[in-house]
Amino acid sequence: MPDTSEIMVISAHPDDAEFGAAGTVAKWTREGRRAVYIACTSGEKGTNDPEIKPAQLAEIREKEQTDAATVLGVSDVVFLRYPDQELEDTPQFRKTIVKQIRKYQPDIIVTSDPYRRYIWHRDHRITGQVTLDAVFPYARDHLAYPDLIEEGLMPHKVKEILFWGTEDVNLRIDITQTFDLKLAALRCHKSQLEQFGIPDLGKWLWKRCEKMAEGSDFEVAEAFHHVEVSL
Ligand SMILES: [Zn+2]
Repeated sequence: MPDTSEIMVISAHPDDAEFGAAGTVAKWTREGRRAVYIACTSGEKGTNDPEIKPAQLAEIREKEQTDAATVLGVSDVVFLRYPDQELEDTPQFRKTIVKQIRKYQPDIIVTSDPYRRYIWHRDHRITGQVTLDAVFPYARDHLAYPDLIEEGLMPHKVKEILFWGTEDVNLRIDITQTFDLKLAALRCHKSQLEQFGIPDLGKWLWKRCEKMAEGSDFEVAEAFHHVEVSL
């Protein structure tokens, strides 16, 4: 019997989840809830350094992601190692996500919003869409992948999906108590932060999360589009 996990976070690249949901993830793990990270690519094209080789960068970024997950109390990190900037909505990718869902049997999945308009990394859009489709109906239906059932990966119903990077916020989660953990986890992604050139990361992040708390009583929040999977 595989280890199951109540929370599953599916990101296109290492660091996406820290920007989008780390405060929420830390809050949940502090409540004793088990969380797993699935990183679809290892972000090996995410650099403006002409000297670094993609394979080197992938290794660095996987280490950064693993370190960030440790800060947040995430139990497991899975690297699917699809090529960065080349995610596509294919039956193969969908099935891979279904396999992870059936293996870990999460109640809640957190991922990137596929419906954000205009400037949005294509990998983020594809990851969100494929995850949504994988949850419903593919992970749920026993006839979807008979071969997975033979492997012992039984159908599974996810209860909720939270999308970060959304233009349609309907859920704000208070991260006032875990903001410092979000910041510490984000700081693990050194290879990325160097390029962003943000002079005071803590201040920048606080402002960003303060904005996400607008309309709520929280000091700082993470904002999501929340979907209950009722079918
Ligand atoms: Zn990304």
